Amino acid sequence: SVRVRFAPSPTGHLHIGGARSALFNYLYAKKQNGTFILRIEDTDQARNKEHAEEGFIKSLRWLGIPWDEGFETGGPYGPYRCMDRLPIYQEYADRLLAEGKAYRCYCTEEEIEADRQRMLEQGLTPKYSGRCRHLAKEQEDRFRAEGRKSVVRFLVPEEKIVRIHDKIRGDVEFETNGIGDFVIVKSDGIPTYNFAVVVDDALMKITLVIRGEEHLTNTPRQILVFQAFGFEIPEFAHCSLILNEQGKKLSKRDESIVQFIEQYKDLGYLPEALFNYLALLGWSPGTEQEIFSHDELVQAFSIERISKSGSIFDQQKLAWMNSHYIKQADVQRIVDMAIPFLQQAKRLPTVLSPEQARWVTALVQLLQEKLEYVAQIVPLSDLFFTDQVSYPEESMTLLKEAHVPVVAHACAEVFDRIEDWSADGIKQAIKEVQKETGYKGKQLFMPIRIIVTGQEHGPDLNQTLYLLGKQAVVQRLRNFET
Ligand code: GLU
Repeated sequence: SVRVRFAPSPTGHLHIGGARSALFNYLYAKKQNGTFILRIEDTDQARNKEHAEEGFIKSLRWLGIPWDEGFETGGPYGPYRCMDRLPIYQEYADRLLAEGKAYRCYCTEEEIEADRQRMLEQGLTPKYSGRCRHLAKEQEDRFRAEGRKSVVRFLVPEEKIVRIHDKIRGDVEFETNGIGDFVIVKSDGIPTYNFAVVVDDALMKITLVIRGEEHLTNTPRQILVFQAFGFEIPEFAHCSLILNEQGKKLSKRDESIVQFIEQYKDLGYLPEALFNYLALLGWSPGTEQEIFSHDELVQAFSIERISKSGSIFDQQKLAWMNSHYIKQADVQRIVDMAIPFLQQAKRLPTVLSPEQARWVTALVQLLQEKLEYVAQIVPLSDLFFTDQVSYPEESMTLLKEAHVPVVAHACAEVFDRIEDWSADGIKQAIKEVQKETGYKGKQLFMPIRIIVTGQEHGPDLNQTLYLLGKQAVVQRLRNFET
């Protein structure tokens, strides 16, 4: 049966690239009735941040990508955190040492650097020289007596071709002569990624490795280790890079693009929108369809339709997709998301009165159509929280027309008499003003809207006036002058 895994190194927050790999693995597992496994690859101690896996896990769960087996969840092949598996790696490294497929290397940094320089001078691509490949036991003893530390290196067979059958990229070949004997266990006894990943993928019975293209050059090393143990080699699928809007490889430092899942959550994106968007980032259904439910994605997904070329991360499209999901969402859900943003902007108190709760619900109903992400509730509701409306430059000609003060005055008076301040009451009142003044349509509505909101366009006028409250509306109309 199908077994796939997501194996993040907890070096920070979940990146859109990692999230996409996790999602492709997840969709594939669900489609094939397989098992999706989460493993924490934390052997790179220098890069690890403490508890960084917690952020990953939170983001994965928030996105709606649960795992069947693995870290925290458990399963038959645990532990699922690499640093908890050190004795296992040790056992396997010892096996390679005993079989002469790996050896201890005592080279100092200076020696390695000198070899590197020499090779560069000779026009060669630097790799480990192999100087410790065949050390006599006495030599090893002498190094040890000198207090030299050792690493374990994998003995790369010469003159061989490693062939990868990649499900996305087709056959890719590497010559072993280009690969130096690489370190599999560091001097502190901790294995390197290229070694641990093989032991783990083999013992966890992974059938297909789906990961980013940046790991393609690691794959021949990993295949050599699989072969050295006689392990069954999984299939591979390396997904293309994610590109920025200029078509360049996305750098994590590129600040023009929001790149971490947590940031999207904090801006008020909906997880199902990101789930949908990330699925289409490098995979295509082969149709024009863009909006997919979870189950539709599971049904439609196939490795064969993952693209070979890079995929541009289109923030506009993601925002469009998010606004689609916001429009469809239950109002109460968006209200619950909106309240903290408004509280943080000091526009709502920490505890809402029933009246304030009704008000904010009506506000969200009014603006739900306009939100690309929920944090926008703050700027979009500016007009409800200002004492001073300023009229936009482009509206001045219109506001100087002779009928405008007439409309403003009549509205102020009629509105002031409304007893039950409601959108319906406001609608009736505007009809009254129409009768009284003889102005209608644009001539009537535009002045009211601009004077009261400071904008020529906006959400439903009656609702907007209702939410502003009678006092503010009447006052803004009375204050009108150009
Ligand atoms: N720990 C690796 C990373 O975060 C994953 C490598 C793999 O999937 O094999 O890039």
